[in-house]
Amino acid sequence: MRGFNCEYLGTYAQTELGHGTNLRELQTTAEYDPETQEFVFNTPKLESMKWWPGGMGKTVNYVILGAHLITKGQNHGLHTFIVQIRSEEDHTPSPGVTVGEIGRKYGMNSNDNGFLMLKNVRMPRSHMLMRHAQVLPDGTYVKPKSDKLSYGSMVFLRVVIAKEIGKWLRKAATIAIRYSAVRRQSEIEAGKGEVQVIDFLTQQY
Ligand SMILES: Cc1cc2nc3c(=O)[nH]c(=O)nc-3n(C[C@H](O)[C@H](O)[C@H](O)COP(=O)(O)OP(=O)(O)OC[C@H]3O[C@@H](n4cnc5c(N)ncnc54)[C@H](O)[C@@H]3O)c2cc1C
Repeated sequence: MRGFNCEYLGTYAQTELGHGTNLRELQTTAEYDPETQEFVFNTPKLESMKWWPGGMGKTVNYVILGAHLITKGQNHGLHTFIVQIRSEEDHTPSPGVTVGEIGRKYGMNSNDNGFLMLKNVRMPRSHMLMRHAQVLPDGTYVKPKSDKLSYGSMVFLRVVIAKEIGKWLRKAATIAIRYSAVRRQSEIEAGKGEVQVIDFLTQQY
Protein backbone atom coordinates (compact mmCIF):
# COMPACT_ATOMS: atom_id res chain seq x y z
CA MET A 1 0.00 0.00 0.00
CA ARG A 2 2.84 2.43 0.79
CA GLY A 3 4.21 1.90 -2.71
CA PHE A 4 0.84 2.69 -4.30
CA ASN A 5 0.79 5.92 -2.27
CA CYS A 6 4.25 6.86 -3.66
CA GLU A 7 5.69 6.94 -0.13
CA TYR A 8 8.85 5.47 -1.62
CA LEU A 9 10.21 5.17 -5.15
CA GLY A 10 11.90 2.29 -6.91
CA THR A 11 13.50 1.17 -10.15
CA TYR A 12 14.63 -2.03 -11.84
CA ALA A 13 18.39 -2.61 -11.55
CA GLN A 14 19.57 -5.39 -13.80
CA THR A 15 22.04 -4.06 -16.40
CA GLU A 16 25.71 -3.79 -15.38
CA LEU A 17 28.59 -1.82 -16.85
CA GLY A 18 30.09 -5.06 -18.21
CA HIS A 19 26.93 -6.83 -19.39
CA GLY A 20 23.46 -5.90 -20.60
CA THR A 21 22.21 -8.25 -23.32
CA ASN A 22 24.11 -11.27 -22.00
CA LEU A 23 22.26 -11.67 -18.70
CA ARG A 24 23.98 -14.96 -17.85
CA GLU A 25 27.28 -13.11 -17.36
CA LEU A 26 25.94 -10.54 -14.87
CA GLN A 27 28.14 -10.61 -11.77
CA THR A 28 26.14 -9.14 -8.86
CA THR A 29 25.68 -11.74 -6.11
CA ALA A 30 23.06 -12.39 -3.43
CA GLU A 31 24.46 -14.91 -0.95
CA TYR A 32 22.06 -16.32 1.62
CA ASP A 33 23.19 -16.34 5.25
CA PRO A 34 21.01 -18.87 7.19
CA GLU A 35 22.39 -17.64 10.54
CA THR A 36 20.67 -14.25 10.19
CA GLN A 37 18.16 -15.26 7.46
CA GLU A 38 19.42 -12.44 5.28
CA PHE A 39 20.83 -12.04 1.78
CA VAL A 40 24.25 -10.41 1.44
CA PHE A 41 24.61 -8.40 -1.78
CA ASN A 42 27.87 -7.58 -3.57
CA THR A 43 29.01 -6.10 -6.88
CA PRO A 44 32.48 -7.67 -6.72
CA LYS A 45 34.19 -5.95 -9.70
CA LEU A 46 34.12 -2.58 -11.44
CA GLU A 47 32.23 -4.02 -14.43
CA SER A 48 29.59 -5.56 -12.13
CA MET A 49 28.41 -2.13 -10.99
CA LYS A 50 24.75 -1.63 -11.97
CA TRP A 51 24.64 0.89 -14.83
CA TRP A 52 21.69 2.61 -16.55
CA PRO A 53 18.63 2.07 -14.29
CA GLY A 54 16.20 4.97 -14.72
CA GLY A 55 15.65 7.17 -11.64
CA MET A 56 18.51 5.54 -9.72
CA GLY A 57 20.94 8.47 -10.05
CA LYS A 58 19.13 10.74 -7.60
CA THR A 59 15.53 9.73 -7.06
CA VAL A 60 14.76 6.22 -5.83
CA ASN A 61 14.99 4.62 -2.38
CA TYR A 62 14.63 1.00 -3.52
CA VAL A 63 15.68 -1.18 -6.44
CA ILE A 64 14.48 -4.50 -7.75
CA LEU A 65 17.96 -5.96 -8.05
CA GLY A 66 18.95 -8.70 -10.50
CA ALA A 67 21.61 -10.87 -8.81
CA HIS A 68 23.03 -14.40 -8.86
CA LEU A 69 21.47 -16.28 -5.97
CA ILE A 70 23.98 -18.35 -3.97
CA THR A 71 22.78 -20.61 -1.21
CA LYS A 72 24.44 -23.62 0.45
CA GLY A 73 27.47 -22.86 -1.74
CA GLN A 74 25.57 -23.32 -5.02
CA ASN A 75 24.83 -20.64 -7.64
CA HIS A 76 21.21 -20.84 -8.87
CA GLY A 77 21.46 -18.05 -11.45
CA LEU A 78 19.75 -14.70 -11.77
CA HIS A 79 16.94 -13.87 -9.32
CA THR A 80 15.31 -10.62 -8.20
CA PHE A 81 15.38 -8.92 -4.78
CA ILE A 82 14.07 -5.70 -3.22
CA VAL A 83 17.10 -3.76 -1.94
CA GLN A 84 16.92 -0.45 -0.08
CA ILE A 85 19.64 1.83 -1.44
CA ARG A 86 18.70 5.15 0.25
CA SER A 87 17.16 6.16 3.57
CA GLU A 88 13.45 7.01 3.50
CA GLU A 89 14.16 9.69 6.13
CA ASP A 90 16.96 11.79 4.64
CA HIS A 91 17.70 10.03 1.31
CA THR A 92 21.36 9.25 2.21
CA PRO A 93 22.78 6.01 0.72
CA SER A 94 22.35 2.88 2.88
CA PRO A 95 25.52 1.41 4.51
CA GLY A 96 27.65 -0.35 1.86
CA VAL A 97 25.91 1.45 -1.01
CA THR A 98 27.67 3.74 -3.51
CA VAL A 99 25.19 5.33 -5.89
CA GLY A 100 25.07 8.25 -8.33
CA GLU A 101 24.17 9.48 -11.79
CA ILE A 102 25.93 8.23 -14.93
CA GLY A 103 26.03 11.71 -16.51
CA ARG A 104 24.95 13.23 -19.79
CA LYS A 105 23.56 10.99 -22.54
CA TYR A 106 22.60 11.54 -26.18
CA GLY A 107 18.91 11.67 -25.19
CA MET A 108 16.53 11.46 -22.22
CA ASN A 109 18.66 13.78 -20.08
CA SER A 110 15.65 14.53 -17.88
CA ASN A 111 15.95 10.96 -16.57
CA ASP A 112 18.60 10.40 -13.86
CA ASN A 113 19.99 7.07 -15.03
CA GLY A 114 22.28 5.77 -12.31
CA PHE A 115 25.18 3.55 -11.24
CA LEU A 116 25.18 1.41 -8.11
CA MET A 117 27.86 -0.50 -6.20
CA LEU A 118 27.06 -2.79 -3.25
CA LYS A 119 29.47 -4.00 -0.57
CA ASN A 120 28.05 -6.55 1.89
CA VAL A 121 24.61 -4.94 1.88
CA ARG A 122 22.17 -7.07 3.90
CA MET A 123 18.41 -7.50 3.38
CA PRO A 124 15.99 -9.94 5.08
CA ARG A 125 15.03 -13.20 3.35
CA SER A 126 11.54 -11.80 2.67
CA HIS A 127 13.09 -9.30 0.21
CA MET A 128 13.54 -12.00 -2.44
CA LEU A 129 10.67 -11.99 -4.98
CA MET A 130 9.52 -15.54 -4.25
CA ARG A 131 6.40 -16.02 -6.33
CA HIS A 132 8.14 -18.62 -8.51
CA ALA A 133 11.53 -19.62 -6.98
CA GLN A 134 12.05 -19.69 -3.20
CA VAL A 135 14.75 -19.89 -0.56
CA LEU A 136 13.53 -21.57 2.63
CA PRO A 137 14.75 -20.29 6.05
CA ASP A 138 17.45 -23.01 6.24
CA GLY A 139 18.76 -22.01 2.78
CA THR A 140 17.15 -24.80 0.74
CA TYR A 141 16.46 -23.64 -2.82
CA VAL A 142 13.04 -24.42 -4.36
CA LYS A 143 13.05 -24.24 -8.16
CA PRO A 144 10.27 -22.45 -10.11
CA LYS A 145 7.80 -24.68 -12.00
CA SER A 146 9.33 -23.43 -15.27
CA ASP A 147 12.70 -21.68 -15.73
CA LYS A 148 11.09 -19.51 -18.45
CA LEU A 149 8.91 -17.75 -15.83
CA SER A 150 11.89 -15.72 -14.62
CA TYR A 151 12.50 -13.92 -17.93
CA GLY A 152 8.93 -13.80 -19.34
CA SER A 153 8.19 -10.24 -18.18
CA MET A 154 11.54 -9.02 -19.58
CA VAL A 155 10.72 -10.48 -23.02
CA PHE A 156 7.28 -8.84 -22.88
CA LEU A 157 8.86 -5.44 -22.14
CA ARG A 158 11.29 -5.79 -25.07
CA VAL A 159 8.31 -6.47 -27.39
CA VAL A 160 6.59 -3.32 -26.06
CA ILE A 161 9.77 -1.24 -26.64
CA ALA A 162 10.09 -2.49 -30.27
CA LYS A 163 6.38 -1.78 -30.86
CA GLU A 164 6.63 1.76 -29.43
CA ILE A 165 9.76 2.58 -31.44
CA GLY A 166 7.96 1.45 -34.63
CA LYS A 167 5.09 3.82 -33.79
CA TRP A 168 7.40 6.85 -33.36
CA LEU A 169 9.36 5.95 -36.50
CA ARG A 170 6.09 5.83 -38.47
CA LYS A 171 5.19 9.35 -37.28
CA ALA A 172 8.67 10.72 -38.02
CA ALA A 173 8.67 9.20 -41.54
CA THR A 174 5.19 10.64 -42.30
CA ILE A 175 6.29 14.14 -41.22
CA ALA A 176 9.53 13.95 -43.23
CA ILE A 177 7.84 12.65 -46.42
CA ARG A 178 5.03 15.23 -46.30
CA TYR A 179 7.52 18.06 -45.76
CA SER A 180 9.71 16.79 -48.63
CA ALA A 181 6.68 16.98 -50.93
CA VAL A 182 5.76 20.55 -49.89
CA ARG A 183 9.24 22.10 -49.67
CA ARG A 184 10.95 23.20 -52.87
CA GLN A 185 14.70 23.75 -52.68
CA SER A 186 17.50 24.07 -55.29
CA GLU A 187 17.44 23.15 -58.96
CA ILE A 188 18.34 19.76 -60.43
CA GLU A 189 18.69 21.25 -63.90
CA ALA A 190 19.86 24.85 -64.11
CA GLY A 191 17.12 27.27 -65.12
CA LYS A 192 14.28 24.76 -64.69
CA GLY A 193 13.25 26.02 -61.28
CA GLU A 194 13.44 24.63 -57.80
CA VAL A 195 12.16 21.06 -57.34
CA GLN A 196 10.35 19.33 -54.49
CA VAL A 197 12.90 18.04 -51.97
CA ILE A 198 11.55 14.50 -52.51
CA ASP A 199 12.81 14.63 -56.11
CA PHE A 200 16.42 14.45 -54.89
CA LEU A 201 17.59 10.80 -55.01
CA THR A 202 19.41 11.10 -51.67
CA GLN A 203 16.15 12.14 -49.99
CA GLN A 204 14.34 9.08 -51.40
CA TYR A 205 16.73 6.73 -49.64
C1 LIG B 1 17.62 5.06 -21.63
C2 LIG B 1 17.93 3.72 -21.05
C3 LIG B 1 17.28 3.32 -19.90
C4 LIG B 1 17.58 2.09 -19.31
N1 LIG B 1 16.95 1.72 -18.17
C5 LIG B 1 17.31 0.59 -17.54
C6 LIG B 1 16.71 0.23 -16.28
O1 LIG B 1 15.84 0.92 -15.76
N2 LIG B 1 17.16 -0.89 -15.66
C7 LIG B 1 18.13 -1.70 -16.22
O2 LIG B 1 18.49 -2.70 -15.60
N3 LIG B 1 18.68 -1.39 -17.42
C8 LIG B 1 18.29 -0.28 -18.09
N4 LIG B 1 18.86 0.04 -19.32
C9 LIG B 1 19.87 -0.84 -19.88
C10 LIG B 1 19.38 -1.65 -21.07
O3 LIG B 1 18.53 -2.68 -20.62
C11 LIG B 1 20.64 -2.16 -21.77
O4 LIG B 1 21.25 -1.05 -22.38
C12 LIG B 1 20.35 -3.23 -22.79
O5 LIG B 1 19.93 -4.41 -22.14
C13 LIG B 1 21.56 -3.52 -23.68
O6 LIG B 1 22.67 -3.78 -22.91
P1 LIG B 1 24.07 -3.03 -23.20
O7 LIG B 1 23.79 -1.54 -23.21
O8 LIG B 1 25.07 -3.53 -22.20
O9 LIG B 1 24.44 -3.44 -24.66
P2 LIG B 1 25.30 -4.71 -25.11
O10 LIG B 1 24.84 -5.92 -24.40
O11 LIG B 1 26.75 -4.36 -25.02
O12 LIG B 1 24.86 -4.80 -26.62
C14 LIG B 1 25.23 -3.79 -27.58
C15 LIG B 1 24.71 -4.19 -28.94
O13 LIG B 1 25.44 -5.38 -29.33
C16 LIG B 1 24.62 -6.19 -30.14
N5 LIG B 1 24.42 -7.51 -29.51
C17 LIG B 1 24.77 -7.89 -28.26
N6 LIG B 1 24.47 -9.17 -28.05
C18 LIG B 1 23.89 -9.63 -29.18
C19 LIG B 1 23.35 -10.89 -29.58
N7 LIG B 1 23.33 -11.95 -28.76
N8 LIG B 1 22.84 -11.00 -30.84
C20 LIG B 1 22.85 -9.93 -31.69
N9 LIG B 1 23.34 -8.70 -31.36
C21 LIG B 1 23.86 -8.57 -30.13
C22 LIG B 1 23.29 -5.47 -30.28
O14 LIG B 1 23.32 -4.65 -31.42
C23 LIG B 1 23.25 -4.61 -29.04
O15 LIG B 1 22.35 -3.56 -29.20
C24 LIG B 1 18.55 1.25 -19.93
C25 LIG B 1 19.18 1.65 -21.10
C26 LIG B 1 18.89 2.86 -21.66
C27 LIG B 1 19.60 3.26 -22.93
